[in-house]
Amino acid sequence: MSRGDRRAWADGRIERMAMSGERVSPPVRRCVAEMEEYVPIDTPESLARRLGLRPDQIVKLDGNENPYGPSPLVALALAQFDSYHRYPDPWQAETRGLLSGYIGVPADRLMLGMGSDELIDTLIRVYVEPGDEVIDLPPTFGMYSFSAQLADARVVRVERDERFGIDVAAVEAAVTDRTRIIFLASPNNPSGNVATEDQVRRLLATGRLVVVDEAYAEFSTSTLVPLVAEYPNLVVLRTFSKWAGLAGLRVGYGIFHDGVIRQMWKVKQPYNLNVAAQVAVRESLRDLDRLMANVRRIVEERERLRAGLESIGFLKVYPSEANFLLCDLLDGSAVDLVRDLASRGIIVRYFRKPRLLNSIRFSVGLPEHTDLLLEALRDWRTGRR
Ligand code: PMP
Repeated sequence: MSRGDRRAWADGRIERMAMSGERVSPPVRRCVAEMEEYVPIDTPESLARRLGLRPDQIVKLDGNENPYGPSPLVALALAQFDSYHRYPDPWQAETRGLLSGYIGVPADRLMLGMGSDELIDTLIRVYVEPGDEVIDLPPTFGMYSFSAQLADARVVRVERDERFGIDVAAVEAAVTDRTRIIFLASPNNPSGNVATEDQVRRLLATGRLVVVDEAYAEFSTSTLVPLVAEYPNLVVLRTFSKWAGLAGLRVGYGIFHDGVIRQMWKVKQPYNLNVAAQVAVRESLRDLDRLMANVRRIVEERERLRAGLESIGFLKVYPSEANFLLCDLLDGSAVDLVRDLASRGIIVRYFRKPRLLNSIRFSVGLPEHTDLLLEALRDWRTGRR
């Protein structure tokens, strides 16, 4: 709503206009009115249609999804499931019990959500009043600032250093009486690097709630899950979207201290984790050997992709412990390259954000996807297009 519209509401003109039959837009919350509008992106289907290809010919390397998909046990169990007409268990009791065995944390410290996206939002609903501050460490995953903005919080941005490391001293200096949450992704999206335990302990020493988002932990060698037992102000978020290939079913979870999870239960939507998602978690956890073998394949492929990207000569590749690689272009324009790749049916991720204006993030796909991508990049370099 514009300032003029807001004034019109305040002085009752809108009601009079509405009564006289004039068309008016309903007033919108200020924090929503100030948000940028959604820009539609190319889906694999729309790109395939434009290029005259089948959707399965599109190489989708933009979403950090698992190219091997879920365990086949998931589809089998869902085909046989006979209780789709019942609401799911709001306490997620069976699922939390199974998850406890996987993550090595008591079930009463676990809560699942509709993706970890939902838990980010729930944490903000629990802890952040309008006008409170949330510390964000860009470039990073966009949902922390998105949900904070929607709660009418002030997003305090503390830029990462040139190698995307956290500037802990700058975060400490940014903490005020109104700081409620410090969000950090480790491995960070889009850069792929991890925060060290020492850095996170220093952030925890600020006494503020620190949310460590470990969406990509299975592809990495480090985790801070054991620290939750030690710090009442630490939350670790995880997801089934990446390692278990369940992005489309929306399953995330958090590991919380008692005081935090008690508040989370009050706010959680009762049926957030649907029955299909609960079945999918159970079956994924029954098929860990297969899923972990896929994770190892993705990690090996990440290193093959890295070597290939580096050999091309115009890309600077950042170290990554996730299922993607961020690259700076040392020559040429990332926007042009993204467009060129799309014209060959390869979708990659570009961010119109400071520090990333000439960078591209490549998700790790199947070996044949790596080959197609590298071939396209070589052609682009030699101008054979
Ligand atoms: N955290 C990070 C750092 C991510 O990159 C993503 C996915 N892009 C998510 C959370 C969202 O995970 P989910 O699918 O569980 O909502």
